[in-house]
Amino acid sequence: MKINIAIDGPSAAGKSTIAKRLAKVLKFKHLDTGAMYRCIAYKAHLLDIDISDEKGIAAFLSSTTIDFDSSGKIYLDGIDVTNVIRQKEIAWLASNVSTLLSVREDLVDRQKKFANEKGIIMDGRDIGTVVLPEAEVKIYLTASAKNRAERRYLEMISKDPSITYDDVYQEIIKRDLQDSTREHSPLKKADDAIEVDSTDLSIDEVVNKIIDIIKERKGSPND
Ligand code: C5P
Repeated sequence: MKINIAIDGPSAAGKSTIAKRLAKVLKFKHLDTGAMYRCIAYKAHLLDIDISDEKGIAAFLSSTTIDFDSSGKIYLDGIDVTNVIRQKEIAWLASNVSTLLSVREDLVDRQKKFANEKGIIMDGRDIGTVVLPEAEVKIYLTASAKNRAERRYLEMISKDPSITYDDVYQEIIKRDLQDSTREHSPLKKADDAIEVDSTDLSIDEVVNKIIDIIKERKGSPND
């Protein structure tokens, strides 16, 4: 029987990149839960609904579909939003929308259903604490704020040449503060999570480190 793996941590720590790579190596399914909050924020933005209007947002949740294909593309109500939800403005709106209890309840429910089968790697902020508290392996992935901002800046500059390193750094700090101090399911390390600091590590080194942790804890991830 396969295990489930939870990866949490602050913004731009590389959670989705690492989770995607691990899923490929282990032949697990991957769910990027941050993308789901970004989709709800983007839909509210398209519908011109203010993020503080919880009733307005709650009203469209049940008719909203969010799907992922095997190549990693994300579809909101059937439309490919993979790139547009990565914008800095949408990241901040997602952090705001994620403070709303009705949104969290709806998305956590979808995430738990996704994990009904084992063999899941899920990344986010509350996976080890709320979504998959029974996950066999929990990783809390961190890196220095400077390092996270540098990586995110290099990722974004090709798509948006007007962006500056300082913009990205400030956005990350602001989002981490809101995500870790909000009332419902704040970002925090689960008591039984293992912290991996990726500041001085390559993607492959982080993936190998996590595979070693899985082996130590569980033997083979597919047993
Ligand atoms: O991971 P990503 O940066 O795409 O997440 C966008 C936002 O969604 C985060 O800043 C956080 O506020 C929210 N989020 C959350 N719980 C999760 C995943 C993301 O609150 N499990």
